[in-house]
Amino acid sequence: MPHRCDILVVGGGGAALRAALAAHEAAPHLEILLVTKGALGTSGVTATACSDRMAFHATLPTTEPGGPDAWRHHADDIYRIGGQVSDADLAEILAREAAGAFDYLDQLGVPWARRPDSQVDQFHTDGSTYARACYTGPYTANHIEAALLERLCQTPIRVLEHHMVAELLCNPEGQVVGAALVSEESDEVHALSASAVVLATGGAGQAFAVNVFPPDCTGDGYAIAYRAGAELVNLEFIQIGLCSLATGLACSGSMMRALPRLVDENGREFLADYMRNQSPVERAAILFAKGASWPVSYREPSHVIDIAVTIERSRGHRVYLDYARDAHGLDPKQLPEAILAWYAGEKGQPLDAARDMASPLARLLAINQPSVDWLAERGVDLRAGDQVEIAPSVQHFQGGVKIRTRAETTVPGLFAAGETAGGQHGANRPGGNALLDSQVFGRIAGVNAAAHAQAHTSPATDDTASAREQIERLFERGGVPAHEAARSIREGMSDACGVYRTESGLAQLGRTLDALASKGIDPRDVSLYQAVEAVNLLQGARMIVLAARQRDESRGPHLRFGPGGALQPIPRDDNSWNRYLVVERDPDGPRIEPREPVRPTTRD
Ligand SMILES: Cc1cc2nc3c(=O)[nH]c(=O)nc-3n(C[C@H](O)[C@H](O)[C@H](O)COP(=O)(O)OP(=O)(O)OC[C@H]3O[C@@H](n4cnc5c(N)ncnc54)[C@H](O)[C@@H]3O)c2cc1C
Repeated sequence: MPHRCDILVVGGGGAALRAALAAHEAAPHLEILLVTKGALGTSGVTATACSDRMAFHATLPTTEPGGPDAWRHHADDIYRIGGQVSDADLAEILAREAAGAFDYLDQLGVPWARRPDSQVDQFHTDGSTYARACYTGPYTANHIEAALLERLCQTPIRVLEHHMVAELLCNPEGQVVGAALVSEESDEVHALSASAVVLATGGAGQAFAVNVFPPDCTGDGYAIAYRAGAELVNLEFIQIGLCSLATGLACSGSMMRALPRLVDENGREFLADYMRNQSPVERAAILFAKGASWPVSYREPSHVIDIAVTIERSRGHRVYLDYARDAHGLDPKQLPEAILAWYAGEKGQPLDAARDMASPLARLLAINQPSVDWLAERGVDLRAGDQVEIAPSVQHFQGGVKIRTRAETTVPGLFAAGETAGGQHGANRPGGNALLDSQVFGRIAGVNAAAHAQAHTSPATDDTASAREQIERLFERGGVPAHEAARSIREGMSDACGVYRTESGLAQLGRTLDALASKGIDPRDVSLYQAVEAVNLLQGARMIVLAARQRDESRGPHLRFGPGGALQPIPRDDNSWNRYLVVERDPDGPRIEPREPVRPTTRD
């Protein structure tokens, strides 16, 4: 077990791998140690996530509209879709460095889809004006992880798997000088000194009962950075979309565009209850639009579908997509011309109305048969009449540890990248920009951590006793068993801090979390490793709820509702809320402050 390194990279996903490689390329003589929970290449979202077509957003020389300034459109999209609550200069960095990030992965052998003329194939994703999404297929992220990992194996970068970083060690001046590690297998604690630390621990999906994250994503980076005194930003903005509960498949694109019936466990269709003024064809058009606006978003009218599903589930119903027959009153021949033309375009030949329009399943087979096969392989056989049970599932955290242009946090020596970092995305992000972010700010974090490590050398430490003491202080009060606390946090967060957020629901959840915090977590029923995760879930959840409660308007995926079961979200309020919320540690708990983001510079 090493006691010292120059740069500690925490995490094993796309951002961590890219940061470690960039640090090594910038300063090959430095000792770099990458520590990750689980096994490298099989933990975290980058290594494990898949969807019907995973996107990597980039403005390349061949990307429309072309010209040397094409990246500016990309930066504008990030800032606009971000609801003007991101730092505009970070959006510009993302856009400007996208082509370089793509080229790096291309050289490592990521098998990007190309057209017959060998130009990179790019498609439109939600929130982007131009077609910028590069892809390899359903496993784009996994291909990126594998390519980076293969490169890492050719370098002297050391790797420590199956260990969590539980705490950062800081000197009296507040500068990061190392970390306390806990072994997943033995629960042993180790102290490690480091001259610079890059946090790339992904998002906090496991803070919610319904999510599509792997189990290791418990938001440790948010909690660790908070305890070390860092600022966090935009925590209330969390991407949530309708997913298959059995398979985790995001039910976007053709899954919605095939126009399934939304039914409960008794076969009752309920969408009409939420869209009373619309005809069956108009309701179908909104469902079709949901295919292109998968994450819930205030600016998309199709959010009515997420709201309907959430309310039905809160009433104790289960919700299914049924592809066996059309919704009551819907005659597919009456669908708008544009939708019928889209079906024909996707099918690649004229529609056979009698066959292709016979049912939602017939449409899905015509436009995306692989999705039907994919589900069947995982036990959901639509051809045999199975229905897809769905729920709003947490998929991405737009906010995180507040970074600036060098990926530096407000704690000296601490850098953050990927989903752990915040400020580069606002309330929402164009599809594909999370993977891009992991590569752009991963590289920037690595380069700047290397520069910092060369200027500030931390002495070696093997003071395991004080590292252990620091971890034990997390359990000083020790009241609620860790597994019970984790369950209550997850259920509370999915119930009150998901799609449908109200003042009373958030206040009640806040009280529950505060009570847990004052009673403390009792680590005795689980391993130390799991107990630290429970503390981190609690700290992350408290910050998220604080921010969600404070922002009493709707923006991005954050929908706030008035009392009495309102169906319409409270409108966006630019006069009061064109600002982001920054959370920081205070002796009495998390403190929150609205602040003005960095605005775009005016261009000639
Ligand atoms: C189903 C799904 C589909 C998606 N589709 C897209 C898409 O099409 N396009 C797009 O741009 N984005 C997409 N995203 C989001 C994107 O994939 C992620 O934001 C991105 O991969 C995150 O990379 P990361 O390196 O920040 O984190 P991760 O890849 O999650 O890696 C985090 C790592 O940190 C480790 N770790 C956690 N805590 C600790 C600790 N305390 N100590 C040590 N190690 C720790 C974990 O084990 C893991 O190795 C999708 C996400 C999901 C879930």
